[in-house]
Amino acid sequence: MEAKSLSSDTITFLGTGGARIMVVNQILASGGLWLNLGGTEILVDPGPGCIVQSTKRKLRADKLSAIILSHRHLDHSADVNIMVEAMTQSGFKRHGRLFAPADALETEPVILSYLKNYLEGIEVLQEGKSYSIGNISFTTPIRHIHPVETYGMLFKTAEHTVSYIADSHYFDDLCRSYSSELLIINVVFLEANRPFDHLSVPDAEHIIMELKPKVAILSHFGMTMWRAKPWEIAQRLSQETGVRVIAARDGMRFDLSQLGNT
Ligand SMILES: [Zn+2]
Repeated sequence: MEAKSLSSDTITFLGTGGARIMVVNQILASGGLWLNLGGTEILVDPGPGCIVQSTKRKLRADKLSAIILSHRHLDHSADVNIMVEAMTQSGFKRHGRLFAPADALETEPVILSYLKNYLEGIEVLQEGKSYSIGNISFTTPIRHIHPVETYGMLFKTAEHTVSYIADSHYFDDLCRSYSSELLIINVVFLEANRPFDHLSVPDAEHIIMELKPKVAILSHFGMTMWRAKPWEIAQRLSQETGVRVIAARDGMRFDLSQLGNT
């Protein structure tokens, strides 16, 4: 038996749906990712339904240290206001920070102005910068190709590295920027060359081959992915890449101890 640290590191998928048709119909949920890394809890991309999905799973927003938005699109940010309200106990406890790209905060802010005062601070995400939250740090290595300002994240804990490739058109630097043990990747489309700025299965396969994480988790599925059964695609990608590839499920909790010791 391996020695287990007291606070296990987990990532809970509060939704695995992405893009418009999937999200407006809630065929799959769209609540984002809830990270518990060494006891530090962080919410990433609280899309529509995050408050429902998180409370249903007894995740306590007042334990969050931060909320991070990869970008301002609704499927990543719709519940940011209610989650700030929940994190700060309606402002009774000034607490937690919000991280977002400048264009999510400036001309047409995604966050209501009165809620800003409930937060300990707001930090602007920029390409190549590092940030810290409690005992973990993360970087936003590269600006993505997407209609609005968008960043993925590379998290470092005492024991593990986790990267999250948020929405983007494919470009080669993605394969150089997110080297980590666990790779979470938003794969909206089944087939390549769609005229939208999202990754497809062939893109994901190429990125996984280049980055060779210990485990890759596919999420943020559009309709073409859902119809093609993401778990079957994950199985095929596992065989083709030699990397363990998992299709996320709504409510799935991934324990980072599955990555083994480093
Ligand atoms: Zn987007």
